[in-house]
Amino acid sequence: MRKSSTKCPACGANLTVRQVRAVGVFECPFCETKLEASENYAYWICASSVVVAIALAWAMGFNGLHFVIIAAVFWNLVVAFAINTVQFFILPKLEVWVPDDGSLGLRGGSK
Ligand SMILES: [Zn+2]
Repeated sequence: MRKSSTKCPACGANLTVRQVRAVGVFECPFCETKLEASENYAYWICASSVVVAIALAWAMGFNGLHFVIIAAVFWNLVVAFAINTVQFFILPKLEVWVPDDGSLGLRGGSK
């Protein structure tokens, strides 16, 4: 059997897959501490999605500029799919959420 729960780093409660979000901030249902999946987890989702997207575009026989465009489109789809499903297979390690100064500049946009 797979491990079906992961621990809250603040209170030590076991959170089930349905109480965890792979991406973004959520509250522990027991202690209400704000938590997020470890950065490695999001990185892993992105990295493996790129590989899957490129493999799909390649398998469908695209090349040149079309390959790049199709791979980018697939990547968006795969990431959207992965962040909703991957936690059912591999639960993230949780960390206490720390407000981000936006030093990476990746989450900018509307302010
Ligand atoms: Zn907790």
